[in-house]
Amino acid sequence: MDWQAINLGEDFNPGIKPPESFSSSFHIVISDDEILNSEGAHPWRPLDQDEWRWLDIEEVESHFLGTVAGVPIFANEVDPDADEPEGYEFSTLWSFLSHTDQQVFYLVGRAKQIVEWHRNHHYCGQCGQITTSSSLDRSRKCASCELIFYPRLSPSIIVCVNRGEEILLAKNANARGNFYSTLAGFVEPGESIEETVHREVFEEVGIKIKNLKYFGSQSWPFPNSLMLGFHAEYDRGEFVLQEEEIADAGWFHYTQLPNKPALVSISGWLIDDFIKRAMANQIMGLK
Ligand SMILES: [Zn+2]
Repeated sequence: MDWQAINLGEDFNPGIKPPESFSSSFHIVISDDEILNSEGAHPWRPLDQDEWRWLDIEEVESHFLGTVAGVPIFANEVDPDADEPEGYEFSTLWSFLSHTDQQVFYLVGRAKQIVEWHRNHHYCGQCGQITTSSSLDRSRKCASCELIFYPRLSPSIIVCVNRGEEILLAKNANARGNFYSTLAGFVEPGESIEETVHREVFEEVGIKIKNLKYFGSQSWPFPNSLMLGFHAEYDRGEFVLQEEEIADAGWFHYTQLPNKPALVSISGWLIDDFIKRAMANQIMGLK
């Protein structure tokens, strides 16, 4: 099976239970949150069954992820102190963002999140007893008090607010470098996602927005966010910045944007989408 010929968007089928027997398999090898890569393989690919056996690295746990074009694929957690086998290297998930396509990033992000979730839920948070994996769904259950744990996902919103041809961009107080981005924040218990968008914008920069429009989402496994992207329009109010979060904020014309997020993140996609629509409107207006 040639990995590079696979279209993951269509050929990956998530699953819980591996087939009873199989003659080939793929392996995403994870050590201490880093992913193993063959030094000669560009772009990245998982190990095949022979390679995985031959490397003989001490495994902590194996997690079935599903099948890719019918071939089972596993996340293999190995000893965090494992040495890099000759000809291979461990790299961070961050490095995948700019070097692989989005579907590969999502698959490897899935593997990393599942490994972390199992590692952090060996014991029940309520009674402290051992938990075991369910064979029915992606969950762990406490053998003693029967509390069930599902993989943790943290939904967050990200919003591109515009005022005519200008975009609201802000500099995070904790970010290094001179870098502006769209506003973002975590959904709180009891909130609808739309309420989160209004609250976050008001909390961070003190203005009211209107006409929210859902744009799309991105799995953001640092460590387990799901980013939900929106466009919105300025309604009223003046900037009042939340000092602990926002160092600076401003309205920037789409032709004169500051240092902004790259196109690998949904923040970059939102800004790019706004620019394209603003340019299209201008062309229409000139006719
Ligand atoms: Zn328990």
